[in-house]
Amino acid sequence: MKIENLELVNEKYSIFSSFVEGVEADAQFTFSAKDSLVARGFEATAGSMILKGYMPPFDATSIRKMREAGGFLLGKTNMDEFGFGTFSVNSAFGIPKNPFDIRRSCGGSSGGSACAAAVFDDHVSLGVSTGGSIACPASFCGVYGLTPSYGRVSRYGLIDYGNSLDKVGLLSFRASDLKKYLPIISGVDDHDPTSAVQPDLKLGRKKLKSVAIPREALEGSISKDVLKYFEESIEILKGMSVDVEYVSMPVLKYSIPAYYVIATAEASTNLARYCGMRYGQQEGDLTAKFDDYFSSFRSRYLGVEAKRRILLGTYARMAGYADRYYYKAIRVRGAIITDYKKHFERFDAVMTPTMPFVSPKFDDISLMSALDSYKADFLTVPPNIAGMPHLSVPCVSSEGMPIGLLFTSAHWDEDVLIDIAEKWDSAFDVRHADVRI
Ligand code: GLN
Repeated sequence: MKIENLELVNEKYSIFSSFVEGVEADAQFTFSAKDSLVARGFEATAGSMILKGYMPPFDATSIRKMREAGGFLLGKTNMDEFGFGTFSVNSAFGIPKNPFDIRRSCGGSSGGSACAAAVFDDHVSLGVSTGGSIACPASFCGVYGLTPSYGRVSRYGLIDYGNSLDKVGLLSFRASDLKKYLPIISGVDDHDPTSAVQPDLKLGRKKLKSVAIPREALEGSISKDVLKYFEESIEILKGMSVDVEYVSMPVLKYSIPAYYVIATAEASTNLARYCGMRYGQQEGDLTAKFDDYFSSFRSRYLGVEAKRRILLGTYARMAGYADRYYYKAIRVRGAIITDYKKHFERFDAVMTPTMPFVSPKFDDISLMSALDSYKADFLTVPPNIAGMPHLSVPCVSSEGMPIGLLFTSAHWDEDVLIDIAEKWDSAFDVRHADVRI
C-alpha cells in the first residue's frame, strides 16, 4: 500500500515504535529501521522499557548512509527486547502483526521491519541479525531478507546484542532493492573496529551454479508443508540448470547450544551498561547503594527474556564454568566455520528452508517454552554463528502463508545471493499480502 494513514496502519499492524507524520516532499525513497539502530530525532529503545525516553544524539552509520543517499526515515520498527526472540512477542512497545494474517507473528526479532517491507510499496527496511533475526521475519512475512557478511556493514550506532554476531542488513519486497541498497550501507567505518576493509561487492558478476543441501539440517523437526515446498524448490533450481547435491554437515547439530552460550554471554555483558544512570529511564533515590539501586531498577524495567539471558550468559562465562560452556562453544563455532568453508570450495551456496514452520499463531506461541523458541532457530543460527552472508527468499505460499528458503554463501560472496534473489523474482510471482485498514 501507499505510505499514508500511518497512524491507522500502525494501529492494525504495530509496525513502528515511533514514526513521522508525513514524508518530506524531496525524499528519493523511504526506509524504516529496527529500533536497535539509533537515529537522530527518534527515540531509540531496542524494544526495552529500560531505554524509554532515550533520544540518541547521532545517527547509526547505516542510517546516516541511507539518509545521505536521499532516503527518508519513516520510523523505527518494533522488535523483541534487545533482539531476544524469534516472534517479536518480547517487545515492550508493540507486537507486530503478520500482514497475511494478523493472528500470527511477523517473526523476530526484526518483526516490525519485515512487516514494513511487506506492507508498504517501494520501501526498504534495515534489520539486524544476531542468530536469524532478518531471515526469520522475512520468511514469515513473504519478503527478501539479506544478512550480509559479518563486518560488511558498520555496527556503529547499533544497540548491541552480541558484538561478535550482530549484522545490519536489509528487508525488502523486491530483489532489485537488495542490489540497490547493499552497496549504500556497506563499507569500512572508522567508528567500528569490527567493520572490515572488504573486497568490492562486484554485484552481478558471480552466478549461482551449484547448491549443497546439508542432510542434517533436514533431520530437525520441519513441518511437512515446508518440506514439500522445499523439495519443489529444488526442482525449480534444477530447471534453472543449478546443480543440487545433498552433503553432510554433522557439526550443525551443535550450533543451537553453541549459539545460545555465546550470544547470551555477550548479551549479559552488554546489558550491564543499562544501570539506570546513563541512558533512558532513571528513577528514585540516586543516593542509595549502587548495587541496591542497580538491581531494583533492572528488576523493574527489564523483561523476562532479558533477565533469563543475563542469568544464562553470566553463568556460562563464570570462572569455573567458562571452560565447560563458553570456550567449548567457541570451539564449536570454529568447527562450523571450517565445515562451511570446505563446502564452499565445491558449491556456491548452501540451502535449507529458513524456518521449520509457517508463522505460528500468537495463541500457539504463548504455549511455547523458552527452549521451544530457541530450538526453532536451528536453520538460521548456523550461517549467523559462522558470520556468513545469507538470504531468505520468499518461496511459495502454503495455507495462504509465505515460507522462506535460506541460501548461505561464502564470506564476502553476497553477489551470489543477489543473483539468487533476481532469479527468484523472475521465477515466482511473489505474492503481496492483502493489506487493508
Ligand atoms: N532468535 C534468536 C535469539 O533470540 C536470534 C535473534 C536475533 O538474531 N536477534 O537470539
